[in-house]
Amino acid sequence: MVSYKELGLVNTKEMFAKAVKGGYAIPAFNFNTMEQMQAIVQAAVETKSPVIMQVSKGARNYANATIIRYMAQGAVEYAKELGCPNPQIVLHLDHGDTFELCKDCIDMGFSSVMIDGSSLPYEENIALAKKVVDYAHKYDVTVEAELGVLAGVEDEVSSAVSHYTKPEEVIDFSQRTGCDSLAISIGTSHGAYKFTPAQCTRDPKTGKLVPPPLAFDILHEIEKKLPGFPIVLHGSSSVPQDEVDTINKYGGKLPDAVGIPEEQLREASKSAVCKINIDSDSRLAMTAAIRKYLAENPSHFDPRQYLKPARENMKKMYIHKIVNVLGSNDKL
Ligand SMILES: [Zn+2]
Repeated sequence: MVSYKELGLVNTKEMFAKAVKGGYAIPAFNFNTMEQMQAIVQAAVETKSPVIMQVSKGARNYANATIIRYMAQGAVEYAKELGCPNPQIVLHLDHGDTFELCKDCIDMGFSSVMIDGSSLPYEENIALAKKVVDYAHKYDVTVEAELGVLAGVEDEVSSAVSHYTKPEEVIDFSQRTGCDSLAISIGTSHGAYKFTPAQCTRDPKTGKLVPPPLAFDILHEIEKKLPGFPIVLHGSSSVPQDEVDTINKYGGKLPDAVGIPEEQLREASKSAVCKINIDSDSRLAMTAAIRKYLAENPSHFDPRQYLKPARENMKKMYIHKIVNVLGSNDKL
């Protein structure tokens, strides 16, 4: 058993309380490579932002669970080396689907876990979340649970349709599970294809898809039921169209990729939403930079040559999100 405290990590309790009060949101960036980890830490240190570094089950399988733990510890030490004496870094499991997986992560140094029982019947979702909460709280690890179903595809998590969170269930759910934060469904979606063209309108000038707006009425109803309770938004990449265009220009094929407009995420950050998950945007930023670099430098084959601009591009994106969308800069 390794406690996250020994690794220099923190749980989400204090940072969420401050974020809800301060009207901003904490970035939750997914990572599974060293370059993503470095870019996240550099961005967080330069902007003086707390940050949640999260890994899905798929990412943990890809990178290896032991390596992920040491990368998180490395992230803390790297932040100190970059001049941040007391970094606020959370290592969080994204979409844990079983008690055993959550327990394994807690035992290996995660400071926060998500148990996603959102596809289960209501009572089973509660029972599973409560079981994880009971274990996690023994070790001061925070737990995110989910009510409502997001559409889209992300690693193993996929659903064809979305079901908005029912505001009338949130009090009962949060009280009976004891969860520390609640992921809700108000129209965000996983992946780089968040909406089908049929769900969108099309901008007549650019030909780009314009997605349907988030259900702010449901968010506000939930806030009224659970005043001050930390709310989480998944599937909140904005799928920057300049990155999509770069990918398509240099041999990629991502027609009609569309995300959540940043103005709407900015709006959500000012409410009880205090954690916003961003994964696809990092994938797009990395891929766009690599495609461009290799197309322009066909004779290069040293991975450092194309991973360096990829890392720079991700860092630029992370800083933009922190400063211009979530507002978590200067909050350390
Ligand atoms: Zn998610």
